[in-house]
Amino acid sequence: MLPYKSHNEKITLLKNGSLDLVENVKYFLSEIEKRKSLNCFLEIFSDDVIQNAEIISEKIKTGKAGKLAGMVIAVKDLLSIKGKRMTCGSKFLENFYPIYTATCVQRLLNEDAIIIGKTNLDEFAMGSSNENSAYGIVRNPVNEAYVPGGSSGGSAAAVAAFQCDVAIGTDTGGSIRQPAAFCGVYGLKPTYGRVSRYGLTSFASSFDTIGAFARTTYDVAALMEVISGYDEMDSTSVKYDVDNYSEDIKSFKKFRIGVTSSLIHEAYSPEIKSKWIATIEKLKLLGHEIVYIDLPHSEYSIAAYYILTTAEASSNLARFDGARYAKRSNESKDLSEMYINSRSEGFGAEVKRRIMLGTYVLSSGYYDAYYLKAQKVRRIIKNDFDKCFKQVDAIIIPTTPTPPFKIGEKTENPLEMYLSDIFTTTANLAGIPGISIPVGHSENGLPIGIQLLADQFNESTLLQLSRQLEMYNYL
Ligand code: GLN
Repeated sequence: MLPYKSHNEKITLLKNGSLDLVENVKYFLSEIEKRKSLNCFLEIFSDDVIQNAEIISEKIKTGKAGKLAGMVIAVKDLLSIKGKRMTCGSKFLENFYPIYTATCVQRLLNEDAIIIGKTNLDEFAMGSSNENSAYGIVRNPVNEAYVPGGSSGGSAAAVAAFQCDVAIGTDTGGSIRQPAAFCGVYGLKPTYGRVSRYGLTSFASSFDTIGAFARTTYDVAALMEVISGYDEMDSTSVKYDVDNYSEDIKSFKKFRIGVTSSLIHEAYSPEIKSKWIATIEKLKLLGHEIVYIDLPHSEYSIAAYYILTTAEASSNLARFDGARYAKRSNESKDLSEMYINSRSEGFGAEVKRRIMLGTYVLSSGYYDAYYLKAQKVRRIIKNDFDKCFKQVDAIIIPTTPTPPFKIGEKTENPLEMYLSDIFTTTANLAGIPGISIPVGHSENGLPIGIQLLADQFNESTLLQLSRQLEMYNYL
């Protein structure tokens, strides 16, 4: 058991000497060891963490420690850390060692956080169940027969299983919010451009975002405060002030919350619907105003998302050609065979499927019919949100259409798997932030999450509402 809930409590205990950081780190290492079956980690930095804990303990004693001193963080293995293997969940990068550190990881290190290891994921972040990793599936800590969600399943499961304090994930179409919901933790996907993507392996560059998993709203806030902000190494990162999230969440401000029946018929499970309604009721009791809104084009989000992201992925993944980066097939007679063999051997089935789909929608005969059309749909979906955010501060929708599903249940049917992203992809199409908040369990004891969305750069609104709902649960 940990003697603290969130980092503000941890830092107090570390400062007054009632918590020993080295012991704390050893506790996490033993929890990882105890539940190896979950397969959350691809790499554990066992030696480094003890050493770093000793160094940071000293800094804390002398009052020189940073904001996140001693916070133990797991990082999705899609982000680079200099000298540490980065696989992206792919066989292709089995032996790839990056030569620089991702900006967001560097910012954590600058504030004296401790990186405990790299977490498992769907190959190149393509998936919703973590069954697409070349390094084995991740299991849901609440019930190991179920998936933890994906693609950041390792990060979500590690936080839920107390194998670290918090974790970094990425969200292109739901990969933070959906696994957060499935594992019963908080997961925030920020506005596109809020966190630098430098050092993140691109999947769909105009959708990719980096965010946080935690067991409390406070920890999400503390983490996002550090990793957000402009970075000259990423031209799509935005020069826009970062709010003081961990202070903001102390407020009990009242908001206008949008409720829409668009897409709700897609909440196939009555348990999801009832949790959604119950959360709306809680928000009313907390004094927020409920406003009915319409998102008329959200039913097209899955189609637009899978056309646009596969197009971008096919282009981004062209760099993995056998000539650069790790893998090269030895079986080839000439250059083009080397490309073909390296890619055939290195990529898994889902990645190949997406490359094929992406090159198809970008091909000259189909570009207008699919790619261009989907771009237009993306704009219309964004316009719908713009209209709504003139009326409301946040929108409440489910995170997923069902509670966690069983391992193997959807692997035979990729389309069904894609449909499980129905509530999450809209935020990435519009570039807006979203948070998944744990709101209880299904009848068979599996976690359920509800999602709040806000206008661009309004992460603070989401975190305030999340904190209020979290407090409500303690009442
Ligand atoms: N599940 C979605 C997909 O497979 C989202 C992935 C993500 O956000 N990285 O594309």
